[in-house]
Amino acid sequence: MRSEVDVVVIGAGIVGAATALALTRAGSRVAVLDRTLPNTAGSGTTAGNLHIQTIHTRRPGQGTAVDVEQLLPFQKSTSSLWNTLDETVPGLGLNRCGGFMVAETEEQVHALITKHRWERAAGIPTEVLSGDEARQALPLLGPSVQAATWCPWDGFAEPDLAGPALLRQAAAEGASVHPSTPVTGLTRDGDAWTVSTNGGTWIAPVVIDVAGPWMAPIAALAGVSLDLVPTSLQMHSLDAAPRTLEVLVQHVGEGMSIKQNRTGRLVLGGGWPAGAFHDSETAPSRSDSTTGNLEQIRRLLPALGDNALLDTWTGPVVTTPDEMPVIGELAAASGLFVAGGTYSFTFAPLWGHILTELVHGRKPELDISAFSPDRLVHLPTH
Ligand SMILES: Cc1cc2nc3c(=O)[nH]c(=O)nc-3n(C[C@H](O)[C@H](O)[C@H](O)COP(=O)(O)OP(=O)(O)OC[C@H]3O[C@@H](n4cnc5c(N)ncnc54)[C@H](O)[C@@H]3O)c2cc1C
Repeated sequence: MRSEVDVVVIGAGIVGAATALALTRAGSRVAVLDRTLPNTAGSGTTAGNLHIQTIHTRRPGQGTAVDVEQLLPFQKSTSSLWNTLDETVPGLGLNRCGGFMVAETEEQVHALITKHRWERAAGIPTEVLSGDEARQALPLLGPSVQAATWCPWDGFAEPDLAGPALLRQAAAEGASVHPSTPVTGLTRDGDAWTVSTNGGTWIAPVVIDVAGPWMAPIAALAGVSLDLVPTSLQMHSLDAAPRTLEVLVQHVGEGMSIKQNRTGRLVLGGGWPAGAFHDSETAPSRSDSTTGNLEQIRRLLPALGDNALLDTWTGPVVTTPDEMPVIGELAAASGLFVAGGTYSFTFAPLWGHILTELVHGRKPELDISAFSPDRLVHLPTH
């Protein structure tokens, strides 16, 4: 089989799904290829938080801190796009419940106040509350909480719903979706890419590599070596009575998040490390990450500390050396675009929008030059 399209999207996680939808809506003929079933990698195992107030700077064990201030205009923009998608994509599983970010030390309170200033400058509404004000608003918060910020735009999307809903909508509007179609070759002949798979060949002037943890191996098929490191993170869920927690809670100084999903489970995240990333198997869980994550809950929301642990799971994510996103066209491979990085669930609608602008030769409204993939390219050594 040999098909000609305008764009081949490699990877049917949430970034691939959002990109396919945005491109299809902009009039492109799009084929989405995935090596397995869509939404089974990072986007199906994620915490799914929409980080609209400033992201905490480090996951547990993370070396380089995220330049969180720089990300705020992108968070504001993706926040609006999530709302727009919610109006036009059935079954997105979006819950804009609002969220608290809590602080327990003087230094963390200072960090909350600083980030509140940045958020105000970026046009993201947050409010600083004292510990008592926060406990009044959310009585589950424990005595160690000294202050909190509240952001009404925070929330989450259900990870088993959001990516599939976007992909279904893209297919309904004209994209072709090909699961179990691993890409094995990428060659450029003149103005077109030939994308080889076990299930046929696609010819397209534009290829978008949104293969998450496998972005570097895909770019390598086109002869480009990208400095991207896949890693695995760990999640937990706790039993709870319905409507125990109706907001998202995060910690400003530590990776920690908790909210209650539509099935009633309390979902705990925060970027706790799992065992080593493996190309084709799920990473094993780590008992120290379980202990660490549960200890945070006992401290911050003590009334939930004895709730039964229902589940532990792990998922893969790709990281950049500077912990910032990556998006753009590769200078060394004309027509090959990439997008991804750690918070790509939050940013998926925006990355889809920006990639569509770039593919159609338009300048994105936001300056993405700091996120260029060219900063990650290893040049050959002589
Ligand atoms: C436990 C955990 C918690 C997280 N929490 C959050 C959070 O709260 N908020 C947030 O914003 N982000 C969070 N993240 C990060 C976020 O989930 C990911 O950045 C995002 O889901 C990545 O989406 P993606 O579409 O880029 O990649 P993925 O969802 O990983 O999809 C990549 C796809 O590429 C496919 N692929 C690979 N190789 C090939 C090939 N050769 N040919 C064809 N297809 C191929 C794979 O099969 C896969 O389906 C978390 C991640 C994890 C793991």
